[in-house]
Amino acid sequence: MKALLFLWQFPQHLFALLVWGALRTAGRVVRTERDGAPPGNVFITVRARGWGVSLGRYIFLDAGYGGETRKHERGHSWQSRIFGPLYLLVIGIASAVFNNLWDRVFHTGWAADRRTAWYYGRFPEAWADRLGGVRRGGHDGSD
Ligand SMILES: [Zn+2]
Repeated sequence: MKALLFLWQFPQHLFALLVWGALRTAGRVVRTERDGAPPGNVFITVRARGWGVSLGRYIFLDAGYGGETRKHERGHSWQSRIFGPLYLLVIGIASAVFNNLWDRVFHTGWAADRRTAWYYGRFPEAWADRLGGVRRGGHDGSD
């Protein structure tokens, strides 16, 4: 089962290996830890500002991020299990280009909480939040 899951998500795992190697070579890997909770992730803490990348079972996170971001990335990891070889196409491109890059390019004048609400309200971020059990408190849209 483990081997099948690994192969099902092979493009992500190959990509993760390349990213891990590059970050290691650059001396940016702080630590690597296994997480026992499903879906059994490997968290790689890195020095790379603003980074939160989920590739199969491997999750790269900037050292500055806290627990909610870990949960969010774990949600993407569940999506990787669901989409398998289509993850990078369906989830990866939507998240990296149409959410992350889009926000960085077009929302520079927005307030931080507006950007956060926009970002985590979109596909596949809102779904990743739900899968990972993230609670983003506060706004009910009344102000
Ligand atoms: Zn995300």
